[in-house]
Amino acid sequence: MEEKPEPRLFYKPDATFKEDLIKGYFGRRVIQSILSTSYRHHLVPLEEWGESIEIVKDARLKRRRKTDLICKKCGIRIEVRAKTQDIVAMSDSVRRPFEKEHQDEDWVAFPIFKVSMIDRKEDEFRLQFAKRLELQKIYFVQIKELKRTKDLARAKKSGRGERFLVWKEGNRYNVLKDILTIDVVGNKFEPYLPPLECKVKK
Ligand SMILES: [Zn+2]
Repeated sequence: MEEKPEPRLFYKPDATFKEDLIKGYFGRRVIQSILSTSYRHHLVPLEEWGESIEIVKDARLKRRRKTDLICKKCGIRIEVRAKTQDIVAMSDSVRRPFEKEHQDEDWVAFPIFKVSMIDRKEDEFRLQFAKRLELQKIYFVQIKELKRTKDLARAKKSGRGERFLVWKEGNRYNVLKDILTIDVVGNKFEPYLPPLECKVKK
């Protein structure tokens, strides 16, 4: 008996996952570039893993995928969490709470991208090629501040069933006192934020 081809639906999670990787890749590049040129850091990926945008299906390997950058001069560590919604959100499960994976002094960067369609004939197989990511703004928050306000964030579940916490836009600035924002206006980044400067002069 001839086997039926797999339903098309099965490809969709991969397409979404690949889109996430591409978003993460651009997010990291943009943070690396801004903090190196304007803030004098020398940021490199913490793991070579970060340079790959290949799809990793094995859950254990996926968990090892890091977006962390580290400065070779001052040692600052930055996790990059690229978003296509204007939100501050962290993965957070009972087994792996976010504060266990980072030190208080570590930073999390949230580059917020606007997604625009560039191909009207887009279908689920071509998601990653049919969208353009445009940087709108970047939030920077330290882990200690996210920890301090953890109880005020809202717990949600992603499409893949992973638990995460969201600091909603409405009360973000009331809850997160120490959030730094870079607005991107016509490819220019402002303002200059001294706390993000590399402390090692050279
Ligand atoms: Zn530095």
